[in-house]
Amino acid sequence: MCVPGCREKVSQQLSRRRLVGGAAAVASAGAALTPRAPAFARGPRSFTRVVDLTHTMPTDFPTYDGPPGIELERLVSFADDGYNMFRWHIVEHTGTHMDAPSHFSADGASADEIPIEDLVVPVVVIDIAERAAADPDTELTPDDIGTWIARHGALPEGCCVAMHTGWDVHVTGPRFRNADADGVMHFPGFHPEAAAFLLEEAEILGIAVDTLSLDRGSSTDFATHYAWLGAGRWGVECVANLAALPPTGATLVVGAPKIQGVTGGIGRVLALV
Ligand SMILES: [Zn+2]
Repeated sequence: MCVPGCREKVSQQLSRRRLVGGAAAVASAGAALTPRAPAFARGPRSFTRVVDLTHTMPTDFPTYDGPPGIELERLVSFADDGYNMFRWHIVEHTGTHMDAPSHFSADGASADEIPIEDLVVPVVVIDIAERAAADPDTELTPDDIGTWIARHGALPEGCCVAMHTGWDVHVTGPRFRNADADGVMHFPGFHPEAAAFLLEEAEILGIAVDTLSLDRGSSTDFATHYAWLGAGRWGVECVANLAALPPTGATLVVGAPKIQGVTGGIGRVLALV
């Protein structure tokens, strides 16, 4: 539900909004990003603490597909060789990682092609943890965004919108994937209409989730992935510690990989508070 006044606030901010246009809104969304000054160039920013939004990733870290996403092969050891080194065998989308536009589009940017200025951005946190605890299939909706705007003001230009469901605390247990007897997973994600809603704001650069996917676990059409990444935006999945961030005011640093042509991948994701 929208708190009183939020619809008005939303329409002030989103003058071109189509709130619940469904597929039509998704299809028409995704206006090209216009060149602009990076967020940090609009004024000095300071911080007093750094929050690590990155999960430590053991080799059995839960993955969307199920099988482990990383293997470590010891190439040399200090005892035998005088130094240590591993070869990594890794699926790009494992652990706390970025989704580049090319992950769900034919010709979108690969991770290395995203301007670095677009990876150091204001981050806002929309908290749906209470609802998620009661309903793992819940989604972040346009109303959730409207409620946030009514309470905290307009979304900062060039920001990342992070969905806080509290799911990060489940990462070592079965609740994280929450697969049922048929193998269907049940965890929250961004509703496709929320993605369409944010695309109406041409300067929202990223979305982040503390679950395994931008779409909720039971999604079969990956509509949020297609809408958001297809519009040239990036995502971050499996983030940790969103509870340690304020609703607004922090700066996100996405340490995305710069491997040529990749569709995303692990990196150290930090927030400066
Ligand atoms: Zn991914």
